[in-house]
Amino acid sequence: MNPIVELAHRFTFEAAHFLPHVAVDHKCRRMHGHSFAATVTVRGPIDPAHGWLIDYAEIKRAIAPLRDQLDHHLLNEIEGLENPTSEMVAVWIWQRLAPTLPVLTEVRVEETCNNACVYRGE
Ligand SMILES: [Zn+2]
Repeated sequence: MNPIVELAHRFTFEAAHFLPHVAVDHKCRRMHGHSFAATVTVRGPIDPAHGWLIDYAEIKRAIAPLRDQLDHHLLNEIEGLENPTSEMVAVWIWQRLAPTLPVLTEVRVEETCNNACVYRGE
């Protein structure tokens, strides 16, 4: 039985957004920016031949096209992110990563140092 491990890869992106469905006097209704941080976690058995679950570079490669779409963009203009809460950003990343990264187990999106949303594909 091979030991089960989790690997986490963190990446950052700068982006602007506003939340169109909150009250008009809610601060998030106004356009503003964040230094977002996202952590993608994969889980599975160690491959005995390599001594790893998968190559970290493989995770990074899968994320790169998504990061390109997010970084220095207005999230509201991205298809599927018209209401770009942390929750929706986490789901958006998951839906686009899962097909290429079948061992995906968690997507964590941090909008600020104090707030994070975790999505596990349910
Ligand atoms: Zn915000």
